[in-house]
Amino acid sequence: MKLNSQIIQNIRADFPILEEKIYGKPLIYFDNGATTQKPFCVLQKIEYAYKHLNANIHRGVHFLSQQATEAHEDARNVVAHFLGAEKREEVVFTRGTTEAINLIAFSFGEAFCSENDEIVISVMEHHSNIVPWQMLCERKKMKLRVIPMNEKGELQLDAFRRLLNENTKLVSVTHVSNVMGTVNPVDEIIRISHEMNVPVLIDGAQAVPHIPVNVRELDADFYVFSGHKIYGPTGIGVLYGKEKWLNALPPYQGGGEMIENVSFEKTTYNVLPFKFEAGTPDYIGSTALAEALRYVGDIGIEKIAAYEHELTTYAVEQLSAVEGIRFIGTATEKSAVISFLVGNIHPYDIGILLDKLGIAVRTGHHCAQPLIDSLEIPGTVRASFSFYNTKEEIDVFVAALKRVVAMLI
Ligand code: PLP
Repeated sequence: MKLNSQIIQNIRADFPILEEKIYGKPLIYFDNGATTQKPFCVLQKIEYAYKHLNANIHRGVHFLSQQATEAHEDARNVVAHFLGAEKREEVVFTRGTTEAINLIAFSFGEAFCSENDEIVISVMEHHSNIVPWQMLCERKKMKLRVIPMNEKGELQLDAFRRLLNENTKLVSVTHVSNVMGTVNPVDEIIRISHEMNVPVLIDGAQAVPHIPVNVRELDADFYVFSGHKIYGPTGIGVLYGKEKWLNALPPYQGGGEMIENVSFEKTTYNVLPFKFEAGTPDYIGSTALAEALRYVGDIGIEKIAAYEHELTTYAVEQLSAVEGIRFIGTATEKSAVISFLVGNIHPYDIGILLDKLGIAVRTGHHCAQPLIDSLEIPGTVRASFSFYNTKEEIDVFVAALKRVVAMLI
């Protein structure tokens, strides 16, 4: 059964923060691209874990340590299943998308890159999929190449093909744009790259909460995402990597857990995935992330995608009635993100006034400054939806926007 309004009301009751009043108005939370709210089951899992199974993992012979270890390693199974990974060892826990990309930029760079090599990214990347590669390029005197997009905000695959050459070492692109909601043809990008034997990293931060992802079907070499954007806690994220790649890469950080044997003369490293998990891992975070993924899985990611698509289409229709509105990003394949400008009004002013009406949207460059600069705009107002949002909230939002625009114009 598709997600009808009764089911959505039941889902909303799972999220305590949706009861909050902002300046006396019911909260309308349309900033899900930045972070998502947490259902009771995730909050309860965090409390339960600290109350009943808190002990440092892997090293302890005692009961609690074994329980905590089991919870952390079970979380790895849940993530592996969620992503369709072949092996649980291919799942590395990180602090988030940003750390996962930095890990690959460092380790892959150390193992496989040298002067004049090239990394390909796209014009619509988040800073966390730009800066780590720039740092690598600076360190190794390499070049960063950028896939352009068309006026709808879709990547130009012909130009992409032309960027690939014998110096290309890795392609790293976002699955879904956090600014425009464009769903990139990552299967095609991976296929084209593999024809040239170039591995591909996919930034799935904005994809996994909204659309089905299967890393094996995609044949992605690396796939990364953040727990907090998929109803899990902050501070935990995932790096998926094909076993052959992860085995070929040196560790990113040194410390406890990631070693097999340490002497002052020489250290040998642990097996996957522990080689990449130096120090005490966030086992409470991983346990709570697994709960979030189970929650999403129980609702059904296909149903979520269909409902959010309906919501986004409705929002675009309603917003189109706002005089002077200009949508930024009108790709055919779009996820639950709408960016726009109205006339010459600065996005920040719209965001501030909407906030006073209880509506949380994001304004600015959305950590994608090169994209915003290439569009020659000051930023956008961004509404990004979740399955707990409703058409009624969109109606309130559109009415509020009309009021705000009337005040500012
Ligand atoms: N990549 C994309 C596409 C994002 O939208 C974000 C966050 O907004 C990130 C990467 C960075 O995620 P985090 O800050 O959780 O590491």
